[in-house]
Amino acid sequence: MPVTPQTSPSLFDAPTSANATPLMAQYLAMKEQHKDCLLFFRLGDFYELFFDDAKAASRALDIALTRRGQHQGQDIPMCGVPAHAYENYLAKLIRKGFRVAICEQMENPAQAKKRGNKSIVVREVTRIVTPGTVTEDTLLDARTANYLACLAQTGSGDQQSFALGWIDLAAGKPATQPLQRADLASALSRLDPSEILVPQKVVENPELFEILTPWKHVLAPQPNPRFDETNARRRIETVYGVRELDAFGTFSPAEIIALGALLDYAELTQKSDLRHLAPPKQLSATQTVSIDPATRRNLELMRTLSGDKQGSLLDAIDRTLTGAGARRLAARLAEPLMNPDAINARLDAVAFMATTPALRDKLREALREVPDIERALARLALQRGGPRDLASIRDALRHAENVRSALLAIPASAHLPDELMQCRSDLGEHSALIDRLERALAPELPLLARDGNFIAKGYAPPLDALIALRDDSRRVIAQMQERYAAQSATPGLKIKHNQVIGYYIEVTATHADKLLAQKNIFIHRQTMANAARFTTVELGELERKITESSDKALALELQLFADLCGEIMNSHAALRQCAEALAALDVDCGLAELAIEQNYARPVIDNSLTFDIKGGRHPVVEQALGASPDKSAFIANDCALNPNDRVWLLTGPNMAGKSTFLRQNALIALLAQTGSFVPAASAHIGVIDRLFSRVGASDDLARGRSTFMVEMVETAAILNQAGERSLVILDEIGRGTATYDGLSIAWATLEHLHNHNRCRALFATHYHELTALTETLPALTCHSMKVREWNNDIIFLHEVVAAIADRSYGIHVAQMAGLPRPVIARAQQILTMIETSSEKPSAREIMDAPPPPSPQRPAAPAIPPALTALLSELNPDFLSPKEALDRLYRLREVWNDMKQAG
Ligand code: ATP
Repeated sequence: MPVTPQTSPSLFDAPTSANATPLMAQYLAMKEQHKDCLLFFRLGDFYELFFDDAKAASRALDIALTRRGQHQGQDIPMCGVPAHAYENYLAKLIRKGFRVAICEQMENPAQAKKRGNKSIVVREVTRIVTPGTVTEDTLLDARTANYLACLAQTGSGDQQSFALGWIDLAAGKPATQPLQRADLASALSRLDPSEILVPQKVVENPELFEILTPWKHVLAPQPNPRFDETNARRRIETVYGVRELDAFGTFSPAEIIALGALLDYAELTQKSDLRHLAPPKQLSATQTVSIDPATRRNLELMRTLSGDKQGSLLDAIDRTLTGAGARRLAARLAEPLMNPDAINARLDAVAFMATTPALRDKLREALREVPDIERALARLALQRGGPRDLASIRDALRHAENVRSALLAIPASAHLPDELMQCRSDLGEHSALIDRLERALAPELPLLARDGNFIAKGYAPPLDALIALRDDSRRVIAQMQERYAAQSATPGLKIKHNQVIGYYIEVTATHADKLLAQKNIFIHRQTMANAARFTTVELGELERKITESSDKALALELQLFADLCGEIMNSHAALRQCAEALAALDVDCGLAELAIEQNYARPVIDNSLTFDIKGGRHPVVEQALGASPDKSAFIANDCALNPNDRVWLLTGPNMAGKSTFLRQNALIALLAQTGSFVPAASAHIGVIDRLFSRVGASDDLARGRSTFMVEMVETAAILNQAGERSLVILDEIGRGTATYDGLSIAWATLEHLHNHNRCRALFATHYHELTALTETLPALTCHSMKVREWNNDIIFLHEVVAAIADRSYGIHVAQMAGLPRPVIARAQQILTMIETSSEKPSAREIMDAPPPPSPQRPAAPAIPPALTALLSELNPDFLSPKEALDRLYRLREVWNDMKQAG
């Protein structure tokens, strides 16, 4: 299947450079080298786009398409974006999937002129911006990591092996993971990359392409030679300046290729060396819980099924205060751990923070002010940073000092957990750098270093001297203007400046003669319609001094900026550690805050096969109910699975809370293995290696799969992969097909799960026939959602009990949903016929049954006398607040009595 990454349409019909003007020839040569990008071509204050690039960009950005001269007899389509505000336009294009090559002017027109009058300014592509390689704050979501991934494959047939490499360039930490083909989709859905590099040959392999289909829109096929192992190894060794890769661990050939190609691409797009990158980390398949894409989607871990962050698990548990903290929490949730010791180390840190509120408040107060040091560092390392990035580092380090002193003040007797000790030491001591940045930076800072004026007065005396000269010259000009106005008896005389002719004296046309008469002083330069321009030898001399001092001042400032960046780069590794420690502390404090606020408990994690949750709640539904106008309480439920009672078969009416119960247990397990406290009174979880969930109905029309087909593909994945350590939740298997087919599939699935997979499982169903399986499957027990019938109505108690539901109350729920009354009456009639006759009624019999009498509106339930009395004597206008409250309590008592009476 061909891939169609979003590229510039100028791939096609590229104009040739024959008979082109020198500027167009320069443009076309540049474009030729960046065919798959939109070319942002710097022309003065604008980035201009030409030909088909202009057409595509003007459409995508909704900006005017104009023309600039002609090429080979045809108008050249053109559109442009102002250079000072290009980032918003760039963001829009990147979001739409375009790649953009930024072509800058490497000199100013005056410099070009020195090479000859007809010379054009030298231009170079300084960077290629792609969805996976952006680093600017304006192009990134502060709380979400932006991954560039690379997939590599070695061998063929049985010898085939895969690896994934990835990096968030704005954080600078690459990683790799060896993979089986079956785990590819899980790993990609965990990372959710913005761009995936794949060798062209992978795209041409239909079997692999099928796996990659959900990521089709972010695939960036690369020439096959980029995936050569020798080249890749060399690239890694060069980037890290090491002779042998073994210094970083033992990498498989596929991992080396994935990492090498990733670094190669990063260098190509950034046009900058990558020596600042952290050493590559390896993630092994046995370190983290494997969660396939369907399970991630169904459990709404990072986003809801409709794609929103709000309403997801991450959104419900995120109490972090910094962007880096939020990104780290998301990464932890995406990769729950499997080693009980590692999980408990995280839990120790959260528990410590939960039990020391004064420390937590102090740390959070500091963290609230911490800028994104991680991203500022990455931008400076890629030579794309500015003075404000230096200020971010200064401020972050200042707050890190407060955080560190708060941690140092903890007495040894309080036994700071290992993870917090590590953070304390990683925060480091940076007073010399803070001091230097504090002295160096001015109070107001421009975005770009080239705008100047960012060095504080007093930091560099030679700079102060140049600035004084520059500013003093301005004062001298004002005096000169006054003097010339007097000398020429022209009060309106002005000394002005523009980029083309520099400083000049201007008078209105009517006063020109006065200056022309003093030829010994005023030298005529230009006559305009309404004004005349002059200069003087003195003004020329002054201009030279001013320009020189401004140029020198700016050059010196840039040199000082480079020195400061150099100093930061020298401590880059320590600063990154500090940034990581701040992010980890933010996560620990945030999870502790969540635990206290939502009354979560610390889970017990070990290597057993137990899953014992007491008083478990659904983290997202609970918060949603708490925020609802009637603040209804979430009903907590237990779930106890163990080797003798591994599979729970859950029956119960529609809307009773089966799905909620299933999901809450999966989420509790995930949260626990992430290192978070959990929404339960207590939880004991033997680590889970794989989590599977098959809930809800959806189709995948893009891959030609109907709803039922998706359901079966997901079920097949579970039955083929789940093992003794896995947790499986299955909701309404077999509902997408005919009743007996569905029942048979559900029956066989349940048997297989019990007998072969032998995993812990929760299985919700409306096929009440399945409850008979308790006779043959010893580790299966039946549970049901409790409901109460009252006055012909049902009340959902949302309580899980050890029982078998007698019916599904589907027609009741349909009535609640507002199906027309005749439809409900007819459905009830058919149900009664089916349920009461010993043999299944034929279609003819159902069709021939006389229609049920037109249903009357049901009589309103009788109101108990106690309630009538209370309500009739209630006159809200004459009640004091105290009396009103008393009545409310009385009403509640009557209501409780009524409920108990059934
Ligand atoms: P169906 O069989 O129709 O799919 P269900 O039994 O799976 O229904 P859920 O979708 O889990 O039911 O729950 C229905 C609604 O009940 C939820 O949207 C939630 O608002 C509420 N609910 C579920 N469980 C609880 C609970 N434990 N406490 C309070 N409210 C709950």
